[in-house]
Amino acid sequence: MKGRLTALAGPSGVGKGSVVAAVRRRHPEIWLSVSVTTRTPRPGETDGVEYHFVDQPEFDRMVAAGELLEHDAHLGASYGTPRAPVEAQLAAGGSALLEIDIEGARQVRAAMPQAHLVFLAPPSFDELARRLSGRGTESPDKVRERLDRARIELAAEDEFDAVLVNDDIERAADALVALMTTPEALE
Ligand code: 5GP
Repeated sequence: MKGRLTALAGPSGVGKGSVVAAVRRRHPEIWLSVSVTTRTPRPGETDGVEYHFVDQPEFDRMVAAGELLEHDAHLGASYGTPRAPVEAQLAAGGSALLEIDIEGARQVRAAMPQAHLVFLAPPSFDELARRLSGRGTESPDKVRERLDRARIELAAEDEFDAVLVNDDIERAADALVALMTTPEALE
């Protein structure tokens, strides 16, 4: 039997990275795709663990060569999912988890219609707005731009097979793994 591909996506600021970090800690048996990105590593990030850090020419080469399952840009940097490791994992009968943005999830749907798309939702719009506004020292214009984008992104929820509310990171991580391991939960 072939393995299942699950893509976790959701609006910017909803906490996808934190939920996936919790999956890594609590369920080390889950195979996670390592994306390529052109952004610079943050303190504590290791090349090949959180991301493969590449320069733009290498990223563009990968796109042109069809080596990425999906890709998108975010805040001036490029992100993408290397295709070969995902295909190898699925061919071996294993499950694979991707953490990507909403546009990436749409591309995964188009490339692999059998993929399961899970939407990570905030407990409420106000909560997401609070997280997006409290991030730093941006101008009110920048914050407004983020909130407008968040509203558009939240409307994508209906395109997904399942919705997980990120009210508690550890609970959401366990619920995500349950969705991956219990196919009926998605039907
Ligand atoms: P960050 O730079 O904070 O790690 O990630 C920024 C955004 O890029 C997040 O919304 C994250 O989900 C998204 N992202 C990370 N990897 C990928 C990827 O491989 N493909 C796509 N489409 N988005 C990604």
